[in-house]
Amino acid sequence: MKPPILYIVIPCYNEEKVLPITSSMFLNKLTDLIAQNKIHQDSRILFVNDGSKDDTWNIITDLSRQDCHFQGIAQSRNRGHQNAVLAGLMEAMDRCDITISIDCDGQDDLNAMDQMVDAYLDGCEIVYGVRASRDTDTFFKRFTAEGYYKFLNRMGAEVVYNHADYRLMSARALHEFAKFKEVNLFLRGMVPLVGFKSTSVYYDRHERLAGESHYPLKKMLMLAFDGITSLSVKPIRMITATGLIISVLSFIGIIWALITAMTGQAVAGWASTACIVCFIGGMQALFLGIIGEYIGKIYLETKARPRYIISERTKEMLETDRHEGGNNDE
Ligand code: UDP
Ligand code: MG
Repeated sequence: MKPPILYIVIPCYNEEKVLPITSSMFLNKLTDLIAQNKIHQDSRILFVNDGSKDDTWNIITDLSRQDCHFQGIAQSRNRGHQNAVLAGLMEAMDRCDITISIDCDGQDDLNAMDQMVDAYLDGCEIVYGVRASRDTDTFFKRFTAEGYYKFLNRMGAEVVYNHADYRLMSARALHEFAKFKEVNLFLRGMVPLVGFKSTSVYYDRHERLAGESHYPLKKMLMLAFDGITSLSVKPIRMITATGLIISVLSFIGIIWALITAMTGQAVAGWASTACIVCFIGGMQALFLGIIGEYIGKIYLETKARPRYIISERTKEMLETDRHEGGNNDE
């Protein structure tokens, strides 16, 4: 049987420091897998330049000239990690049998790719890379990350525990995934919805080899919130339930107030009135905010803007270009 063609999809944003180090690691892994006859020699490493402001794209084009295993596409501007990964996967989908998406900073253990490909050869269409331990993370990052996964699941967004965006997807799974047209992307929550036979492989995550993380706390919180609101309507249901409980309590309160008034025990309770007003006011503002968040998402989805726009491709990617652009109508 012919071994599968693998495309390793790697989003890069301002990574001039780390790319010269990790690109050779990726190439070694790819040639190693080819030598073992696990993957076809037409396999490629596909960098997605996500509108970097530094030398990243030049490094990618240089690499593609040095070795045909390196290929690259560039987004027309910075669109964020999730859109960059999607752009790469959609580009790769028609050229390969399997893709593996991975960050370019060398944090994820490349050796897990062997097991991923093995799992594919065993019949899995999606293989999740899962972090076995978080020893290299700070206590804060570990605590927030683990709390985050638990919270997401409780909120009704089904995500694989400790899995980020290091995963193998077959072209078949990707073709189905391409039918998910939403613009608000949270890949790790969307991919499990595709279904098919899947499994997880475990690996240790290292420190970033160079450069700096692009995910400060603020961005992480935004991703977490997006994850919940783009995958689940549970918060809205919880609002409805809380609203119902508060209504019942208010009704009891009114009866109580009427009884005390009628029995002549009414007190001029400024404090209790003020408390109630504040409480209800606060609740309403919070709940309107959450509902507003969903309306915002609907607003963005109805616009149906393209999820990624590719402005440049390295030579081979141009020659084998099978579909133009990357908009929603594909
Ligand atoms: N990245 C991207 N676009 C962005 C931000 C990040 O393509 O706007 C890429 C980045 O180059 C890296 C990956 O996404 O390959 C993960 O980013 P990073 O390592 O900074 O995040 P962390 O691992 O700290 O969560
Ligand atoms: Mg990283």
